[in-house]
Amino acid sequence: MATTDRQATTLALAHALSAAERGLAVIPLSRTKLPALRSPHREDPEPRGPACHGECGRFGHGVYDASTDPRRIRELFAAAPWATGYGIACGLHPHHLIGIDLDTKSTTDSSAALRELALRHLFTIPETVVVLTPSGGRHLWLSGPPHVVVPNSASRLAPGIDVRGAGGYLVGPGSRTEHGVYSTAPGTAHLAPAPCPPTLLRLLTPPRHTRHPTPSSTGRHGQGLIQFVLAAHEGQRNTRLFWAACRAYENGFGPDLAPALVEAAIRTGLTEREARSTIASAARMTGQRP
Ligand SMILES: [Zn+2]
Repeated sequence: MATTDRQATTLALAHALSAAERGLAVIPLSRTKLPALRSPHREDPEPRGPACHGECGRFGHGVYDASTDPRRIRELFAAAPWATGYGIACGLHPHHLIGIDLDTKSTTDSSAALRELALRHLFTIPETVVVLTPSGGRHLWLSGPPHVVVPNSASRLAPGIDVRGAGGYLVGPGSRTEHGVYSTAPGTAHLAPAPCPPTLLRLLTPPRHTRHPTPSSTGRHGQGLIQFVLAAHEGQRNTRLFWAACRAYENGFGPDLAPALVEAAIRTGLTEREARSTIASAARMTGQRP
């Protein structure tokens, strides 16, 4: 068993490195498909400040550990010698990966549901990377445009269709889990993630039903980020705020959008201090001054 596990870890690392070579940021996963490295903060007393996203310099921050740097990936796997798979972070530069997860758990046929959706909304599913899951499900990999934040969702698009977007990850092909091995569908391994059809992209992004004043210089993208923060449920408020703030700073309008982000975060129930601190973390992580 120990030997098998070691082989599985070596294989997972090899697959993870080759994914990274294609520009996909990865983290080690355990057999349960969860991040292999546990949070270094799990023993901490009730946190007073916002959640740490890796600023402490240690591993174990889930998808925030994800990297395309081979050295860091080797370090991550060395810290998790029980890893048998790897996760690919969605929503990151350069692919801005979106995962369409067609599961087989529900009684409905999720592939048929997607075809029906495509017919109804007049888009075609492009030829793209397809990953086969051990349970008979399929993951379609699509690439999104930068600046568009696609949230994670479960059965919101259609029954049995889950979407992995910002803050989510996909189990990479070559990963071994409790249920078996993930692999690419024949003939799709060499493909790059195809651009998400615009119509489908609109279905994947949350509706902008409320209006909030944002500085005009931040435009539509800023508005989308604000909506992304406002749509947060308890438990994802900090993650969403952090994500949105990172995108804003990466795109050069972080300082302009920060007041509106703080306002939106307060409306979701964070304190002003928490919100400011998370935004400051995002600024640091993206190499900006808050
Ligand atoms: Zn930390």
